[in-house]
Amino acid sequence: MSILADILEFNQKFVETKAYEQYQTTKFPNKKLAVISCMDTRLVELLPKAMNLHNGDFKHIKSAGAIVSHPFGSVMRSILVALYELNAEEVIVVGHYDCGMSAIDPKAMIEKMTKRGVSPETIGVLQHSGIRLEEWLHGFDCVEESVRQSVSIIKQHPLIPKTTPVHGLIIDPATGKLDVIVDGYQA
Ligand SMILES: [Zn+2]
Repeated sequence: MSILADILEFNQKFVETKAYEQYQTTKFPNKKLAVISCMDTRLVELLPKAMNLHNGDFKHIKSAGAIVSHPFGSVMRSILVALYELNAEEVIVVGHYDCGMSAIDPKAMIEKMTKRGVSPETIGVLQHSGIRLEEWLHGFDCVEESVRQSVSIIKQHPLIPKTTPVHGLIIDPATGKLDVIVDGYQA
């Protein structure tokens, strides 16, 4: 059975048995929080559990590496929507140790793309039109620095409310332990 068929079969039972009832809540986060974290598989359940966050508690924004790479990209827009439209009042960036984004070699990734059918001409056209592919694909060398950088992009953003605390944490994907990198109340 394909993964999609598998999901749909399960879903039918899920809805029929009203398994959704225990998850019913509103779109407004109870804890008035927006959390930006990595898409790492180890954190899917561990991160909210380790932070005592439940369904309905927070707006969860995910990006590879928990990186806010562009002040006018979709992650930043999500943060602004959470703050202005959905009653979030604080922002927490949560990076993690052993992150896949610290090991990305952009050159090798572009090579993989061409091996899987993207023509070298396409890569060339993109590079020529000013898209710095290698820079764009690059993750980070140091997770601590990356968290600080993302916190700073959010905090310095011209559209962010001046009073919004923006925190930076790093989670251990093995134990769930959190290290505080930026305490947004102090900043
Ligand atoms: Zn990661």
